[in-house]
Amino acid sequence: MRRWMMAASVLVASFFCISGVGHAHQERPNILFIFCDDLAYQAMSCYGDERRLLETPHMDRLAREGMRFDRCLVTNSICGPSRAVVLTGKYSHLNGFYNNTNSRFDGSQVTFPKLLQASGYATAIIGKWHLVTDPTGFDYWHILPGQGVYYNPPMIDNGRRVKHEGYTTDIITDLCLEWLKNRDRSKPFLLMCHHKAPHREWAPALRHLGWDNDRKHAEPPTLFDDFAGRSRAVRDHDMGLDRTFTDRDAKLIPPPGMTPEQLEVWNAYYEPRNQKFREANLKGKDLVRWRYQRYMHDYLGCVKAIDEGVGRLLDYLDQEGIANNTIVILSSDQGFYLGEHGWFDKRWIFEESLRTPLLVRWPEVVKPGSVDNHLVSLLDIAETLLDAAGLPVPDDMQGRSLMPLLRGEAPQDWRKSFYYHYYEYPVPHHVRPHYGVVTERYKLVHYYKPDIDEWELLDRQVDPYETKNFYNDPAYADVVRELHAELERLRNEVGDTREPPRSAYGNRPFDGEQR
Ligand code: CA
Repeated sequence: MRRWMMAASVLVASFFCISGVGHAHQERPNILFIFCDDLAYQAMSCYGDERRLLETPHMDRLAREGMRFDRCLVTNSICGPSRAVVLTGKYSHLNGFYNNTNSRFDGSQVTFPKLLQASGYATAIIGKWHLVTDPTGFDYWHILPGQGVYYNPPMIDNGRRVKHEGYTTDIITDLCLEWLKNRDRSKPFLLMCHHKAPHREWAPALRHLGWDNDRKHAEPPTLFDDFAGRSRAVRDHDMGLDRTFTDRDAKLIPPPGMTPEQLEVWNAYYEPRNQKFREANLKGKDLVRWRYQRYMHDYLGCVKAIDEGVGRLLDYLDQEGIANNTIVILSSDQGFYLGEHGWFDKRWIFEESLRTPLLVRWPEVVKPGSVDNHLVSLLDIAETLLDAAGLPVPDDMQGRSLMPLLRGEAPQDWRKSFYYHYYEYPVPHHVRPHYGVVTERYKLVHYYKPDIDEWELLDRQVDPYETKNFYNDPAYADVVRELHAELERLRNEVGDTREPPRSAYGNRPFDGEQR
């Protein structure tokens, strides 16, 4: 790999010699990668969810001026593993980061920021990192330790511990703007702006408390899914609004680390409403309905602050006159359940957690307002950005550059199926390890561990909310047979044929300082 990198840098150097360094730098695009944590496409108005939960004008601007990908899938629907996939362009079983419980990112492996940095990009990551070891490949890193907190966050500034006062989403945006203003303008840049929001426990900014005027948010049709006919793996979940939602999730307890002044504003909003809730003594479905409404106020309120931050960053690119040659990507480490199946959280191969939002604006290349329906993935990000910067993509990266799609082409040989593998079990949400194959219409899923060996077939065409299992339906026998064969082909293709190490499931928690 080292030999490959040397070859790459020679190639890049000779490119500059031919074209002249200053000129080449101007031509290579800047990259602003805005990555949210647990952002559901259902919460973005540009994705047109039937519930119309929230208006996100600045994200919508990105979609209007760029390309919206409607089927961007993750390989392992959980925070740290998805981040490792983005950096490496490789599945968990190759990049080594399987779960959030005891995985540590091996920072010596090849990542796309390292390759961009070696080719002359200024590189920075600001915000959530969550890969335990120190970031590598960045000139500047200023990260939250672990999950981070919503108010007054301690952060790590290139290895030095610092403490900020304020709301974390705003602080991350401020730090990004500060870095952009002070950057080395002789180089193109890669800035990874990684929000903590809207991760659990969904604490909105003070200015957004009551943003919805106590509106009743539309409920998803599957809020009270009874999981009839589904695998025991699905029924045994621990991510339900009915069973898992804590007092902190419900804001019956305020978030940690607030100043007395912040807490006063916080309590002025929540306390009268919490008092009413306690007096009502809700049970059963009424309690779930109350929790759903509280969850939507809080979760969507967090998204509002991200959206405002996106607006501020886009304004800066305009003011600086660099919008045309800056690739702006907005995405999330996975999707999220906003009450579908009665759930919050992620992890499953099912649509809301498998699909993640992906918007790409690049005025020099992408036709404004375009929509792409190909099966794409966070696995493709590294390859895409290397390709966009004119760099070769290492052979062992497993995704594919999205550049043809961004140019509006429809390659005949684009993937028609996709491989998925989730590991972390039993904590924190009791989602059993599973792998499967995803096509435009179907999903074939195997729950294989530790006390279970069950299959499900989902058919999005006849069952768009994914509430039924067709695996044993004789009418689907041919489909099941074909998908088994396709799953085996994919497992061989991506090299996931061996038993994962025991540590992959995270059953031995990591103890020690986390980044
Ligand atoms: Ca996440």
